[in-house]
Amino acid sequence: MIEDLRGIVKGEISIEEEELKNKSRDASIFEVKPEAVVYPKDVEDLKNIVSWASECKAENPNLSLTARSAGTDMTGGPLNDSVILDFTRYFNRVGEVTAIPPDGGIAVVEPGVYYRDFEKETLAKNLLMPSYPASREICTVGGMAANNSGGEKSLRFGQTVRYVEELAVVLSDGNEYTLHGLDQNELAQKISQQDFEGEVYRRMRGLIEDNYDVILSAKPDVTKNSAGYLLWDVWPNRETFNLAKLFVGSQGTLGLITKIKFRLIRPKKYSKLLVIFLNDLAPLGELVKEVVKFKPESFEAFDDQALKLAVKFLPDIMKNIKTGAFSLALKFLPELGMMIMGGVPELVLIAEFTGETESEADDKLKMAEPAVKKKFPSLKTHITRSLEEAEKYWIMRRESFNLLRHHVQGKHTAPFIDDVIVHVDQLPEFLPRLKDLIGQYPGLTYTVAGHAGDANFHVIPLMDFSDEANQRIIPELSEKVYDLVLKYNGSITAEHNDGIIRTPFLEKMYGKEIYELFGRVKRIFDPENIFNPGKKYGANMNYAMSCLNKN
Ligand SMILES: Cc1cc2nc3c(=O)[nH]c(=O)nc-3n(C[C@H](O)[C@H](O)[C@H](O)COP(=O)(O)OP(=O)(O)OC[C@H]3O[C@@H](n4cnc5c(N)ncnc54)[C@H](O)[C@@H]3O)c2cc1C
Repeated sequence: MIEDLRGIVKGEISIEEEELKNKSRDASIFEVKPEAVVYPKDVEDLKNIVSWASECKAENPNLSLTARSAGTDMTGGPLNDSVILDFTRYFNRVGEVTAIPPDGGIAVVEPGVYYRDFEKETLAKNLLMPSYPASREICTVGGMAANNSGGEKSLRFGQTVRYVEELAVVLSDGNEYTLHGLDQNELAQKISQQDFEGEVYRRMRGLIEDNYDVILSAKPDVTKNSAGYLLWDVWPNRETFNLAKLFVGSQGTLGLITKIKFRLIRPKKYSKLLVIFLNDLAPLGELVKEVVKFKPESFEAFDDQALKLAVKFLPDIMKNIKTGAFSLALKFLPELGMMIMGGVPELVLIAEFTGETESEADDKLKMAEPAVKKKFPSLKTHITRSLEEAEKYWIMRRESFNLLRHHVQGKHTAPFIDDVIVHVDQLPEFLPRLKDLIGQYPGLTYTVAGHAGDANFHVIPLMDFSDEANQRIIPELSEKVYDLVLKYNGSITAEHNDGIIRTPFLEKMYGKEIYELFGRVKRIFDPENIFNPGKKYGANMNYAMSCLNKN
């Protein structure tokens, strides 16, 4: 059957073992081997592939199409057992980047463009797409949109959904459409169309109208959320109706993104860090509440593991840094000293304060640091003196998970409770309880990093999956941690999304009524279940555990 594709696709098709193996992994704990990997050359290819899949689906119920960009997803989002569509080979052009005075801009870009390349183009015009994740050097903008990614600047600027102005998408009828905000007249016009697009708009408007209050009250009370479909963002206040907002975070389950129009911001010129060292996590919750009062642009955290790994594998990190690598390496001498002398702090917090002038950034620091010192006199703090010194802390924060993934020996990094978020006011109560739950598994080692200011923590256990007792911890501890998160009205995933690992918990998080609405959304867009099945709706923990990578 896959052979039939060769006649209709201009791009390459591979069924080579090496290639299939490569695409059977992402940064999650799973491994799912596909049947074929296709590199679509253009939109025409995508339309033909979707029409082909739709024709063949009845006779081949397991046939599906799963989009993949850089494959850095931590949830199993781009993994499936049928056809994988890789966007990085051909959908990799940056279109126009246009400044819009006084302080913003717009950029058009294809989904397979790496964020690092996109940023070069936007910064050339002094513009920035601020929701970039810690994986900024290795992920694409398509994956960021499909996961509703967030990162260090999301505290001030929010997640990717805020910056997607428009999406071009291929839907399940095999046609390409543009999704963007519609006013009442434009919506009425779409709804009157007697075609697939008209039906999608008619049914989606009906679904939202009929369940308006239920949908709005389902929105978690947190600053970031990637769980489920973002139904509450489609028609806020019944003004602009925007299906692009629903597509963001939908993990390729509703269709294929072919082009993205992002809104950009103008970054502030000056940035300085207040670094706070914690030797025990007890004051963390109260400390975070204190620092966010001063409105830092970022407020991030990483633990002693990240610090030690960064020092130990500095040469690896330096390979990616073209300029100033040597002098940056020298900046790590104090951390090397800490490691030798045994004085590594348990957690390092970095609060970034920015301004149009250096003194604007300094003024904010001059208020924040004494306030921290007054309330927590025993904590050690430090203000960075140069951009290079600040870069050192950013490296430790951004590289922590990646270094762990590549250098931990005999164990897996196991992201399964990796992205919980609660309201920042709940942190002092929530964190000790979270620690207690994990403490019920005495042999379990784990690392902590994350977005402290958003009360969003990445807890990554290190585990050996060849041991069945370890495998059993995954569903058991997930259940306990998510019960706790939901008790505080939080979200099971702030930015990493659902994928194979969290789709089984969506009903627990939102309740049956909203979960069934997710099922209806999926059927409206994708009645034959062609796009990335098993994500967002209709999968359970048995399926997830059957995908576990035990090697
Ligand atoms: C070291 C490390 C650090 C990370 N840090 C963060 C972080 O700080 N914040 C954060 O949010 N995430 C983080 N992540 C997770 C991940 O990097 C992000 O979710 C990233 O945006 C995924 O991009 P990608 O190009 O790798 O997408 P992929 O992994 O290829 O795909 C992600 C999802 O998008 C879908 N998709 C991809 N392309 C398309 C398309 N064209 N059309 C429709 N659907 C598509 C896929 O089906 C999949 O479901 C981190 C991961 C790693 C490995």
